[in-house]
Amino acid sequence: MVSAIVLAGGSGSRMKSDKAKQFIEVDGKPLIYYALRTFEASVVDEIILVTRQQDIPFMREEIVKKFSFNKVRRIVAGGKERYDSVENGIKACDKRNQIIMIHDGARPFVTNAMILSSISAARRYKACTVGMPVKDTIKVVDAEGFGIDTPDRSSLYMIQTPQTFDRSVIQEAYSRMRADSKGNVTDDTMLVEKYLDQKVKVIEGSYSNIKITTPDDIPLAEAILGAM
Ligand code: C5P
Repeated sequence: MVSAIVLAGGSGSRMKSDKAKQFIEVDGKPLIYYALRTFEASVVDEIILVTRQQDIPFMREEIVKKFSFNKVRRIVAGGKERYDSVENGIKACDKRNQIIMIHDGARPFVTNAMILSSISAARRYKACTVGMPVKDTIKVVDAEGFGIDTPDRSSLYMIQTPQTFDRSVIQEAYSRMRADSKGNVTDDTMLVEKYLDQKVKVIEGSYSNIKITTPDDIPLAEAILGAM
């Protein structure tokens, strides 16, 4: 059985909008609607929706009830950092579910195919993420903006979500992070690599699986929607 944690607990400060990012309209629907509709229609057994404490009533009434997202079992408050929100989501998952998927609600174009291939890769490898090969050359730059290294492009992937884990792997990684005061992570697969020495399988995502971060991502998202 599979739990999907959908994260919408950020403030979206880079959107420069009064509205929280998850509620900004994309082609007439709030951004968070798109990821939720795909998980709702998928094989996942429950959705745990993580949002800011003050947004819980709006999320319940104007998103979950309005669009009949019946798989949303719980709406829980997020935390200060993304990893605090993930941890709250993990605690709220049904303990009987063996597989936990974590998805950024700000990525509207997750597909059913990604969800299915993530679940089977997580069953096989215990940890996986979707990602895509980078198309551009990537440079490491120093504090003054000078290039100091140009890694071989053929081994570089950009990493997206969903990221999917065996429950015991992700729980153990989080408990080790909490025991380590230096713990500061932006990505859950990074956490299992760092604390558990657990290999993470990278499977195919899509170049359309973008994360909405800044205002110019909205017309891009609307263009992707129009092409779907
Ligand atoms: O800020 P960023 O776009 O990297 O956030 C990625 C995802 O994590 C978003 O869907 C955002 O809502 C979520 N998040 C969260 N709690 C935080 C920070 C971010 O749920 N404290």
